[in-house]
Amino acid sequence: MSPLPVADMQGLYAEIDRAITAFKLATGLRCRSQCGQCCPEASIAVTMVEMLPAAAALLASGDIQHWLAKLADAGRTCVAFSPDPLPETGGHCRIYEHRPVVCRLFGFAAIRNRLGKLELSTCRPIRQDFPEAVSRAEALLAKDIPAPLLTGYSQRLFGLDPTAHPMPINQALARAIQRCGLFSTLDTPPGAEPLPRAG
Ligand code: SF4
Repeated sequence: MSPLPVADMQGLYAEIDRAITAFKLATGLRCRSQCGQCCPEASIAVTMVEMLPAAAALLASGDIQHWLAKLADAGRTCVAFSPDPLPETGGHCRIYEHRPVVCRLFGFAAIRNRLGKLELSTCRPIRQDFPEAVSRAEALLAKDIPAPLLTGYSQRLFGLDPTAHPMPINQALARAIQRCGLFSTLDTPPGAEPLPRAG
């Protein structure tokens, strides 16, 4: 069995975070405080490989039974989303450090349109709260500044796992836990990296 690309995914996440930080600094884009509006939907589609770092961390946490029970009983919300008691303060992500690509890029990514020009891909709360930052981002993208490019990272993902296909986020997390759990019960094959202990 090939080693799971947990460390590769962690490296990709660190790279994405650096690109997003630079883009935020250049544009002034940021999330609405305690927003969480993009999280409750379990229909968010990600690949299993993206959830491997979260799965490895949850397995290492000693709390995996709790998460398996949550996944078995998952409704229409991402299981990692924890709503705050006050409705106006939204909620937070319980696997924030290990969240998948789309959760990192949401609001802060660029796409290339049919003419090959960069366009900002952001959300309604950011457009409503920070119109000046949105205008600045659009002006800078028109000059082709370096920006976190959605398609570029998707290609990198498929480079790590050519069989990867998007599925609802809770299903992807369940499959990643299954893969990590199975892998950790096997002897590490010669030359393979052991599963990193996260947490
Ligand atoms: S993984 Fe975290 S950031 Fe992504 S949808 Fe779930 S709660 Fe939100």
